[in-house]
Amino acid sequence: MGGGNGQKSKTARERNLEKQKQAKGSQLESNKKAMSIQCKVCMQTFICTTTEVKCREHAEAKHPKSDVSACFPHLKK
Ligand SMILES: [Zn+2]
Repeated sequence: MGGGNGQKSKTARERNLEKQKQAKGSQLESNKKAMSIQCKVCMQTFICTTTEVKCREHAEAKHPKSDVSACFPHLKK
């Protein structure tokens, strides 16, 4: 594998991209650990930062016959 300086700098950039991807991957790992909201109907888990809007969207999309509070009791008013 030959190559001039141009190719070398490209490789360095690609290496940096790899590092960034790995950093994002570890963020996903910590997000998985932060799962704390669970739909009581289908037992799907959501990260604790999931907004009420997203929970309602899930309930309406997946369980149109069920009340939102049946899926996510913490949303009860
Ligand atoms: Zn569900």
